Amino acid sequence: MLTIENLQTQVEDKPILKGISLTVNPGEIHAIMGPNGSGKSTLSHVLAGRSGYEVTGGSVDFKGQNLLDMKPEERARAGIFLAFQYPVEIPGVSNIYLLKAALNAVRRHRGDNEVDAMDFLQLVKGKIKALGLDEQFLYRGVNEGFSGGEKKRNEILQMAILEPSLCILDETDSGLDIDALKIVADGVNALRSPERSFILVTHYQRLLDYIKPDFVHVLAHGRIVKSGGPELALELEEKGYGWVEQPAAA
Ligand code: ADP
Ligand code: MG
Ligand code: MG
Repeated sequence: MLTIENLQTQVEDKPILKGISLTVNPGEIHAIMGPNGSGKSTLSHVLAGRSGYEVTGGSVDFKGQNLLDMKPEERARAGIFLAFQYPVEIPGVSNIYLLKAALNAVRRHRGDNEVDAMDFLQLVKGKIKALGLDEQFLYRGVNEGFSGGEKKRNEILQMAILEPSLCILDETDSGLDIDALKIVADGVNALRSPERSFILVTHYQRLLDYIKPDFVHVLAHGRIVKSGGPELALELEEKGYGWVEQPAAA
């Protein structure tokens, strides 16, 4: 699915990622943990193709394609989903409109027909019911006045509709209450499948109480300093990050 080799990036001439290597196979959930400022969000953004990050070395292969050569929208169409892709409020553009446009872009890329309005309505109604959302939600402006929990549900709804192969969730942790954590966890667990992979970025272990990852990696100073199974997250919760962190100039 995804092979990252010795990835190096800088932001405004400052090296951030200093040689990341990571292989994600279909069906796997990889948790990326680490102290604040270690480069977790940078890694998510570089994979999604956000501007402002300069790749200075290494390679990323996604399903046999050179990911770094692809524009952000090409990456999305090829099956990469970054939660908070649409963080901004888009007043006047309804949620249902954006969802349908995004789904049809993905379908065209796959060589499938576009869904017609009636089929789409049926599809989306089934999904929102499963997520415990009100139908009104579909007709509101994108993220307009959404509560934290609604934004989370909306992210999960986007994932459920778009059916990406690789979901990247950067749970920046700020303001994620226990209800929001459960929304994310239930959504991820429901979408787990042998064909779909997840990269879950989280500072705290608590999200992993609800989602059992296959692998846990610790990022510190732009490098993966330790990898292990789910038990590593528990160990980090107990001991903090100090014992795995290495000085940057190792
Ligand atoms: P994390 O998500 O692990 O907290 P980030 O990827 O957000 O870490 O940040 C890693 C480092 O890169 C930090 O030192 C941060 O200050 C720096 N950084 C991130 N984005 C920018 C930016 N746009 N401009 C300058 N420095 C940045
Ligand atoms: Mg941070
Ligand atoms: Mg971050």
